[in-house]
Amino acid sequence: MSNDIVTIDGPSGGGKSTVSQMLAARLHYTYLDTGAMYRAVGIKIVRSDIDEKNPEQLARLLDHLDLRLTTDAAGTRVTVDGEDVSEAIRTAEMGMVASRVSAIPAVRRTLTALQQEMGRQGKIVAEGRDMGTVVFPNAPHKFYLDATAEERARRRHLQLLEKGQQSDYQRLLQQIIQRDQDDSSRDLAPLKPADDAIIIDSSTMDAEAVVRFMLERISGP
Ligand code: C5P
Repeated sequence: MSNDIVTIDGPSGGGKSTVSQMLAARLHYTYLDTGAMYRAVGIKIVRSDIDEKNPEQLARLLDHLDLRLTTDAAGTRVTVDGEDVSEAIRTAEMGMVASRVSAIPAVRRTLTALQQEMGRQGKIVAEGRDMGTVVFPNAPHKFYLDATAEERARRRHLQLLEKGQQSDYQRLLQQIIQRDQDDSSRDLAPLKPADDAIIIDSSTMDAEAVVRFMLERISGP
């Protein structure tokens, strides 16, 4: 049932996670964080001794993938083969690894199938890069959330400082620009708005304003 699927795509740091979680809570839908799935596969590959360019080794790893997502008020918890990797996947480095492995066709095939399976029950807010274009092309409500690279780096910088972690704004900005470039230039499921997506520039909007706008569009005139 794609009738009750909302897709939210866009570049990293545009506020997708916050907005998607808020929207899911208001609609009483399940939040599907597909970036966490790519990060989890990334961490699994990095920690294994396989060569990700070797198709047989990679296929074996993906065949045995035991990836579980649970969502609660605190966000998404992810386990791979029984190990909770929720915190370990949230580093900037793991974001780069996820971006790298997400360009591998077998990885995308596996995760796309898993995401479509999760979407079959309907009532989900699916967040990622290719939700509206590839995974749920028939979803009735598609949004593409954008913001300037500088604003996205600034938000991430403040988040890290608030958590008491070290942060280098220039380095974050470079990473964001690099990841955007990699995500939008890959051949498979590149980052781009679906033709029927509503594009929102959140550079000057807070999350509440974005969610309110989305709810208005979802409920119609
Ligand atoms: O959204 P998040 O930053 O957690 O995603 C990490 C990386 O996973 C992205 O930079 C992107 O390369 C990849 N990704 C993807 N398709 C998705 C979600 C994430 O390629 N649907």
